[in-house]
Amino acid sequence: MKGWLAALPVTFAAMLLCAAAPPVSFAPVDSRFAAASAEYEALWRADGSRIATLLEETSGLTFPAARIDVIVSEGSPMTTFDGRTIRLRAGYSPAYKKATLVHELGHRLALTLPSRGGLDDHRLLYLFLYDVWTDLYGRDFADRMVAIERRIPGPEDYEAAWTWALALTRDQRQARLRALRTRGDASDRPLDIAPGPPISRP
Ligand SMILES: [Zn+2]
Repeated sequence: MKGWLAALPVTFAAMLLCAAAPPVSFAPVDSRFAAASAEYEALWRADGSRIATLLEETSGLTFPAARIDVIVSEGSPMTTFDGRTIRLRAGYSPAYKKATLVHELGHRLALTLPSRGGLDDHRLLYLFLYDVWTDLYGRDFADRMVAIERRIPGPEDYEAAWTWALALTRDQRQARLRALRTRGDASDRPLDIAPGPPISRP
């Protein structure tokens, strides 16, 4: 009993921290990326609490308590399948660093969905990423970051995923997320929610 009482304040403090933001560590792959790693870390110190809160509120999901290790290098940004490691790119502009940090943390959060509804990683993420970017840094910021991501080359079709997600209204994106969160069967059957009329965006 004594041990339990002694442990209580620490546990309570840890829970408070978890509610604000998951623990995140930052490390450069080597000393060439130390400055960029420090930039990401400063960004997390300044905005991490708001980023985590808005990601959780908008997605309706909760970050696991486990620490996330962020590694900074010149490799393409990515999040491992177990969600424990995120790689971020050193050479991005300050604005795109913010966008990418939120993007990869969003992937981490989306891993906790009980069902994907047949959606790929980016369609899932884009059900809340645009709205989180907008709430964090404004609509202009979100639109600029979407324009950059649409041009990312490679096997992932970012262009198609953004076009799909932004053809839905925010309410429709939220309805899709609600359906994915509440489907306990974890099946990958497609969701039968009709998308709204396409809307044009810059
Ligand atoms: Zn991604």
